[in-house]
Amino acid sequence: MTETVRQIVLASRPDGSPTPSNFRLEDAAMPEVPDGWVLLETIYLSLDPYMRGRMSGAKSYADPIAIGHVMAGATVSRIMQSRHRDWREGDIVVAYSGWQTHAISDGSDLRRIDPAVAPISTGLGVLGMPGFTAYAGLGNIGHPKPGETVVVAAASGAVGSVVGQIAKIWGARAIGIAGGREKCAFVKNELGFDAAIDHRAPDFARRLAEACPEGIDVYFENVGGPVWDEVLPLLNDFARVPLCGMISHYNDDAEAEPSVDRLPASMKVIQQKSITVRGFMNVEFIDQQPTFLKEAADWIADGRLKYREDIVDGLELAPAAFIGLLQGRNFGKLVVRVSGEG
Ligand code: NDP
Repeated sequence: MTETVRQIVLASRPDGSPTPSNFRLEDAAMPEVPDGWVLLETIYLSLDPYMRGRMSGAKSYADPIAIGHVMAGATVSRIMQSRHRDWREGDIVVAYSGWQTHAISDGSDLRRIDPAVAPISTGLGVLGMPGFTAYAGLGNIGHPKPGETVVVAAASGAVGSVVGQIAKIWGARAIGIAGGREKCAFVKNELGFDAAIDHRAPDFARRLAEACPEGIDVYFENVGGPVWDEVLPLLNDFARVPLCGMISHYNDDAEAEPSVDRLPASMKVIQQKSITVRGFMNVEFIDQQPTFLKEAADWIADGRLKYREDIVDGLELAPAAFIGLLQGRNFGKLVVRVSGEG
């Protein structure tokens, strides 16, 4: 067994968009495995937009990552050594090992996954946190009714792709917003959305309005910014807006163009149309996760829930891939293959 752990640590805090110099690749000693703990080998590392917030010094729902500490993140890992009575060597689990090849766990953060259901990497995407976020936000806040129009941006990505497909399963119309023709073609033709609109196209506003002739009943908010500006006038009376994320603002802390104040215009429409905007974190609905995992596995098996993964090979490529995620360069759920499955 290798004696060292490869890690990517936070070297410095970003000022606007992260750069490669904010990360550092290091080797550390393999940790001892205490009684009641397991040693994990990372197979896949998930890269997710929330990591940008953890790189900042500002406190939010989670503490910032300290300078010099390993970047946080969910992983699909193999148990290499177990000194815990509930876990066996060879078990495949979703863990929270961070950006490193190995980690130890006391088992409290592990979720066993069944490789027979779907490829194990899906434990980080469609059958993991992003898929559950889509299900929980749409079901508990969006409440789409059959025939209603659901719009979601970042529609080819980990959360958005699942939002639109579940909306269809529940009988609604699904309109996706995505960056570029290739992503839009995938959203419409492969995922089966009713329409997909390119937010970078000059006629974006007109095409979005054409795709929503009866307005928008549910807008699942993933991006904010200029996309929100065009969605806002199309929202119907009593529309519901699950506020999941606003990725277009995650690098705002320094480099943003002079900020547009969207608040007064947004509040006016929200008040006059009796719109519900409800922020959420997926964990508040975590008791629904077992139901989701069962339903989603069935939908995957019968072909109603499709997914696309963007797999990058090698831990050392994680910083560049993560920087690209915040610029829309990923196409599907972004995952780093850290070691082989076999
Ligand atoms: P994705 O896999 O969708 O990847 C991010 C995508 O965001 C990019 O590919 C790009 O898609 C889009 N994007 C990036 N920058 C911009 C921009 N400036 N304007 C418009 N679109 C942009 O990510 P996830 O599915 O993992 O996450 C989607 C959202 O959900 C994020 O806001 C994330 O923070 C949030 N989230 C919230 C959770 C919660 O519990 N509330 C849990 C998980 C995620 P394109 O090229 O199509 O524009």
